[in-house]
Amino acid sequence: MTFRADLHCHSTFSDGTDSPEALIRLAINAGLSGLSITDHDTIAAYQSALPFAEANNFLLLPGVEFSASHQGHSIHILGYAFSLKSEELHQLCERHRLRRLKRNRTILERLRGLGIKIEESELGCEGHTVGRPHIANMMIEQGSVKTIKEAFDRYLGEGKRAYDPGEQISVTETIETLHAAGGKAVIAHPHLIKRRPTVRQILQMPFDGIEGYYARFSPAHEKEWVGIGTQKHWIITGGSDYHGSNKPFNFLGSSWVGQKTFDALYAHYLTANS
Ligand code: AMP
Ligand code: ZN
Ligand code: FE
Ligand code: FE
Repeated sequence: MTFRADLHCHSTFSDGTDSPEALIRLAINAGLSGLSITDHDTIAAYQSALPFAEANNFLLLPGVEFSASHQGHSIHILGYAFSLKSEELHQLCERHRLRRLKRNRTILERLRGLGIKIEESELGCEGHTVGRPHIANMMIEQGSVKTIKEAFDRYLGEGKRAYDPGEQISVTETIETLHAAGGKAVIAHPHLIKRRPTVRQILQMPFDGIEGYYARFSPAHEKEWVGIGTQKHWIITGGSDYHGSNKPFNFLGSSWVGQKTFDALYAHYLTANS
């Protein structure tokens, strides 16, 4: 059986709709040999996910997807193979928790101004990252929009009426934190960075890798980013960005890395945590 490991997916600890345990079961059923759960701005899933993976003899590589900004543009950074006990990493997650708490309040206030009333208490629970998809789902429940896409297109997307980016945490700071935690910093879905000058600047930063294989890439996209990563001797990662029913077109395992890439990251994870 070919070794395939999906290195990008989200659990209920952020804006995915499957629990970490359900994700691991799904991965096993899909014939995957390894997985990394990369929740937005939190590593809380690993407390239950690691023992569950071990009990099922399944290779789970700790990962995370940090929200960062570069000159006002949103950049997502995947982190892998860090020490789970890193004080710096936990502090960054805590900073993001507070950033989101404040930002979500502003978004809800703006929505209230537009006649859409959602209470903060309706938005998920302690210890889980609350993001715009949660707000979008509440808007659907209330009948103010029909789909998550409509919620983003009309209200929540960058620059839309209820949008607020919140505190900006820089790319440099995020890379430094991942390195301080002994981990690797990887540019997520580079095709989503819209401005070419921004892409050029990001590519000059001290990353260790780039997401060369992604659910929705066209083969031309893949070639471009894999080419750039190879030239830089970076790790080329891949994943589906599976979010369950919050992103129904991304299937778990639709993008993946092979054994060599996975083993190198996994060995790094064991070292960082020894
Ligand atoms: P947040 O982390 O709160 O900034 O929300 C960002 C998340 O919302 C992304 O990771 C996606 O899962 C989702 N998202 C962003 N843009 C859209 C969109 N246009 N339609 C649907 N979901 C989106
Ligand atoms: Zn997401
Ligand atoms: Fe992302
Ligand atoms: Fe993601």
